[in-house]
Amino acid sequence: MAVDLLLKGGTVVTEGGPVQADVAVSGGVIVGLTAAGEGPSARRTVDVTGLHVLPGVIDTHAHHREPGYTHKEDIITGTSAAAAGGVTVSCAMPNVYPPPNTAKVLRDMFALYEQKSVIDYNINAASSNLEELPALAEMGILSFKIFMVVDTGRDYPHMPGIGVHDHGKLFKMFQGIQKTGLPLMIHPHDQALMTVIEEDYWARGEKDFRAYAKAYSSYDGVIWDSAVSTLLQLQRASGVHLHILHLQTRRCVEMIRAARAEGRAVTSEVNPWTLWLGNDCANIERLASYALSYYVEPHHYQAVWNALLDGTSDMIATDHAPHTHAEKAPGRENGWKAHTGTPSVQEYVSLLMTDVNDGKLSLKKAVELLSENPAKVFKLYPKKGAIRIGADADFAIIDMNAELVLNDERVISKCGWTPYAGRKVKGLPLHTIVRGKFVFEDGKVVGEPGGGVKATPLTAEQAARLTAAAVSV
Ligand SMILES: [Zn+2]
Repeated sequence: MAVDLLLKGGTVVTEGGPVQADVAVSGGVIVGLTAAGEGPSARRTVDVTGLHVLPGVIDTHAHHREPGYTHKEDIITGTSAAAAGGVTVSCAMPNVYPPPNTAKVLRDMFALYEQKSVIDYNINAASSNLEELPALAEMGILSFKIFMVVDTGRDYPHMPGIGVHDHGKLFKMFQGIQKTGLPLMIHPHDQALMTVIEEDYWARGEKDFRAYAKAYSSYDGVIWDSAVSTLLQLQRASGVHLHILHLQTRRCVEMIRAARAEGRAVTSEVNPWTLWLGNDCANIERLASYALSYYVEPHHYQAVWNALLDGTSDMIATDHAPHTHAEKAPGRENGWKAHTGTPSVQEYVSLLMTDVNDGKLSLKKAVELLSENPAKVFKLYPKKGAIRIGADADFAIIDMNAELVLNDERVISKCGWTPYAGRKVKGLPLHTIVRGKFVFEDGKVVGEPGGGVKATPLTAEQAARLTAAAVSV
């Protein structure tokens, strides 16, 4: 009997590494991995000779801005940009309005995604209502999210309702979330230290984008190190699975490495701006607030890169954070007036593939960081995150030889700009497939709003059943 779809002639990046194989898909799942040229007959055969077939990319940290801030981005534009970037699952962050910190608000937000998302999705709920945690956890979310930032001089993107930096309140949330069994994502930040650091800058009249970048990285990254140090103590005391966001200093890497060596439930992500933007002063000088602009000094960058390579840090997630020109431009004069964050979901896979082409990491390692590890950490594996029998047929098909100078004209995100404009990349997504359906084909988004479904964490039993069914090549 013919299968639905056959991807023929490609280099397939399996958990064992790249192999020449044909991939057969039926009913939205992978039903066959055969030697090249030996795939079954199919209703549709796509010749992917010369291309690399990767598992669909899983981005566990994206700001789609809907509801509440749809002048920046919305679910359709955000998930379309993700599809064009090779992403097949995108998880939204809760700094929207109203924030999903009650079961009712989260239910309404999921209804929006059901109607609008072009790819598979989930939402990381805000944990600011302790009594709502059990109900939120039962709604199939991947994780809770806490911002430790309570911004001075602006109320977005970290609005007061969901920012928490009081250690006692944090500890209560750690304990409550531990009981749900779900991971807790935290943007680490020492607000008390940052407040006095900022005041010193402002007292000296230093307010431009350089001052902002220097303030956030001052004293060799003390606001990050102090926060992570505290969070790790609260993790030890509560036993919660702590997922640290925005890893960007050498000492944070060392602390996480030590905690993991003790067998503690500590994972982390690295963002594109640490790897390809804020690690170079020249980018910040050229782009001002469009570069974010946290400055990541070279010795920190090197430690973070090594942490990705040696497995101390688990994944690359975008922190895709679009803002309009009007919200960014004032940052040249006053860095604190600009909204924080940069878009990156359409470009990050290309930037990492460029590093693969440059010999900085293997394709197998890149797939671990983009797909396999996010799926494992957030319990989507083995349904998602790897090319194996029984898994969802989610693929990012990459032309590793395609070259492009990134530019604003191709940006799908509503904000209309990318901080990576002008950068030459080699290795571009050509097709993206979600559960057997093309959502991005020959460089064009073809997915429909409402085509995505919620990517829900698997129970141990579901994962075991899929593992038993799978045959890796
Ligand atoms: Zn973020």
